[in-house]
Amino acid sequence: MTGNRSDDWQQAALFLKEGTRFLVVSHVHPDGDAIGSTLAVKAILDFLGKESGLTNESPVPSKFRFLPGSEAVVPPQNLDGFAFDRVVAVDVADRGRMGAVWEHITADIPLLNIDHHPTNDRFGTVNLVVEDAAATTQILFHLARKLDVPFDRALAIPLYTGLLTDTGGFRYSNTNPEVMEMAAALLRHGVDAGQIAERVMETLTRGQLAILQRALSDLQFTSDGRVGWIWLTCRDLEEAEAEEDDLDGIVNYARNVAGVDVGILFRETEAGNVKVSLRSREIVDVAALAHSFGGGGHARAAGCTLSGSREEVESQLLEKVMASLEQGGD
Ligand code: 5GP
Ligand code: MN
Repeated sequence: MTGNRSDDWQQAALFLKEGTRFLVVSHVHPDGDAIGSTLAVKAILDFLGKESGLTNESPVPSKFRFLPGSEAVVPPQNLDGFAFDRVVAVDVADRGRMGAVWEHITADIPLLNIDHHPTNDRFGTVNLVVEDAAATTQILFHLARKLDVPFDRALAIPLYTGLLTDTGGFRYSNTNPEVMEMAAALLRHGVDAGQIAERVMETLTRGQLAILQRALSDLQFTSDGRVGWIWLTCRDLEEAEAEEDDLDGIVNYARNVAGVDVGILFRETEAGNVKVSLRSREIVDVAALAHSFGGGGHARAAGCTLSGSREEVESQLLEKVMASLEQGGD
């Protein structure tokens, strides 16, 4: 990892050493990196002798509940009045991504923002934003080393899980020698790679399968075949008896078709908005595109939320994607 001032690392380390009671939070609908980072920060704080409360607006997805200590990640109202003097936000690109947790954090409380999204708006008091890190857990791996935290199971397993999921199982273009070196180091500390991959990558729920069937039956393409998209309504989810987490990975089916550069999942939310997930193969910078709609993410995986009718949302999005493709991705 490059491109970050050593001062930021020092300030982050100091931030953790100086506080006493920390609230640790990640983004709504957490993925492996969000939960992994939350648990890894807890392990670091435990080593430093600090108290911590772990929170997320959303429940921990079932596939991550095997992670030791994951049951401690609770909605803010279940923190039993845990009083904190500092906040650590991990894998959160902007305040809004914390959802309702944000309402529990008053403006005077110092916040450490540890993240790898290029669209991060540096909302923290201290910001350790490393854009070329493959996962937020990669940043935490280095931070733990700087703080001489031993890589026991409580730290190594969540660190590895975040790295595994954010690199798509070491397949995405963010997989580089440093990623593999971190993975190797964690395996040497006793992480069972096969077992973790089995739990988070090789297990489908019934709901996932049922919603995938619906998604595939409605997969559409532009006439040139460079954009593929899927629409899912609240009714689709209900009928498939699928949960939010069961949507994980569906957008890849649109992107993975030969000839497609951009895959899109449009999903109606209960609030009546449309949540858009974008994935690109190599041309379109979907982070920039999502950002232009108030969202964000990474160049190859991003998201935003729009309002409007199906026709409006679809034409707005597709127009921008097509324009970006025409311009070779700019
Ligand atoms: P997903 O499509 O899986 O929800 O998200 C893909 C990537 O885009 C993730 O890195 C996620 O954090 C980011 N992302 C998704 N939706 C939003 C959004 O509304 N705002 C921002 N800033 N990032 C988003
Ligand atoms: Mn991440």
